[in-house]
Amino acid sequence: MTGLASCRLAVIGGGLAGITAAVRCADAGAAVTLYEARPRLGGLTSSFRRGELWVDNGQHVFLRCCTSYRALVQRLGAEHMTALQPRLDIAVRSPSRAARLRRTRLPAPLHLAASLARYPWLNLGDRVRFARAALALRAVDAADPATDLRGFGDWLREHGQSASAVHCLWELVGIATLNARADDASLALAATVFQIGMLRDNCSGDIGWSAVPLQRLHGDTAADTLAKSGAAVQLRTPVRSLSRSNGAWDVEADTGSARFDAVIAAVPPSGAEALLPEGAVDMEPGWSQRLGSSPIINLHLILDRTVLQEPFIAAVDSDVQWVFDRTDQSGLPSGQYLAVSLSAADDLIDVPTATLRDRFVPALKSILPGLESAELKDFFVTREREATFRPSPGTARLRPPARTAVPGLYLAGAWTATEWPATMEGAVRSGDAAAAALLADARSLSTEAV
Ligand SMILES: Cc1cc2nc3c(=O)[nH]c(=O)nc-3n(C[C@H](O)[C@H](O)[C@H](O)COP(=O)(O)OP(=O)(O)OC[C@H]3O[C@@H](n4cnc5c(N)ncnc54)[C@H](O)[C@@H]3O)c2cc1C
Repeated sequence: MTGLASCRLAVIGGGLAGITAAVRCADAGAAVTLYEARPRLGGLTSSFRRGELWVDNGQHVFLRCCTSYRALVQRLGAEHMTALQPRLDIAVRSPSRAARLRRTRLPAPLHLAASLARYPWLNLGDRVRFARAALALRAVDAADPATDLRGFGDWLREHGQSASAVHCLWELVGIATLNARADDASLALAATVFQIGMLRDNCSGDIGWSAVPLQRLHGDTAADTLAKSGAAVQLRTPVRSLSRSNGAWDVEADTGSARFDAVIAAVPPSGAEALLPEGAVDMEPGWSQRLGSSPIINLHLILDRTVLQEPFIAAVDSDVQWVFDRTDQSGLPSGQYLAVSLSAADDLIDVPTATLRDRFVPALKSILPGLESAELKDFFVTREREATFRPSPGTARLRPPARTAVPGLYLAGAWTATEWPATMEGAVRSGDAAAAALLADARSLSTEAV
């Protein structure tokens, strides 16, 4: 991309959306200043030190189909810091059974047929009905506004899915990717996830994760990349207000005011609503509140020995959802570090740590028998109250596009109109979209000038 050579651009917010917008626009020649309120880049993908350990604020995974996210990681020179399964392979455990969801080389959706034929939590009727529903979901028009108004849970029941099929199969993937239970999720967002991740291409659902702390993967590499591109990064600098006069933007921060030709606001929805001038988006006041948020918590267990041989497992018939081996990323010298990721955690976000420990350690023992004889050396919890926007039916109309109604002002963020749920891929797509809109506008302005 080139074409922003004389553009002074402020990017507000240094999460994945802001990082992407800043990198893309700096690559196109803009003079970029990135403002970030916190002392580091990376936004909701962050890490902190606990003694000798590196702890992520929450386990993150991506899929092979997250092409924009993977392109950003490549641009940051960080691809070697990630792992990506050669073929989708999920070990699934319940207190009484174990199975694998593993794909074959057959084209989608047949690539999962062999695993599903042996999947022990479905009876024969469930399997047949699942296949029919998967084909029906493949044909759902996710872009139709009417689809967004429908609940995924209702749609699954209408398509003959039993409670067991919903829990053991649809929600196994759906809760983690949508951060909502099927009954609370928009059909459009669910259809997008399953169509792109599972139903169209046999390799798109292969799972990837960071092999290093998230801070190193995103925030640190972004800081290096932006410095090399000549962008200025102002950390610990929350932007307080935005105003437009004489065709330029004034950005007010505690460090002072600066003037820019264009602004990309890549902050969470409530922050965006507070910053945007009136009329910038076509929504009634209070829209960010109506969009809402959904929490995720992670339970962290430090053990004196290895009890999980897989990089991760998923659980069914259990309070546990997904468990990840974090030993290498954390730098734990001996024993094992497990992170239990619990999405759609409305009922858990305010539960005290001791209560979570009393409830989840026995639940974990029932799916990881080796834990019975292990010593639990540490147990702590990370909580993200506003991990994602709430992907409820009717959400699409509360997600504005990148280009606002005000010249020179653009929006980015996983919550904007990306068609994806709030994911790293959605965040990066939104940053790409904001950069592309700015570039297109700059081109048309320079054409008009000519
Ligand atoms: C625990 C957890 C687990 C998750 N798991 C996954 C997963 O497995 N896979 C996946 O794809 N996604 C996952 N997500 C979602 C993913 O992390 C987010 O969708 C994505 O990181 C959002 O990026 P963003 O840039 O849109 O927003 P943010 O990361 O929220 O970035 C916004 C930034 O703006 C800054 N800011 C706010 N106000 C101001 C201001 N006034 N001035 C300056 N700066 C400001 C904030 O400090 C922040 O850094 C998870 C999220 C959480 C919390």
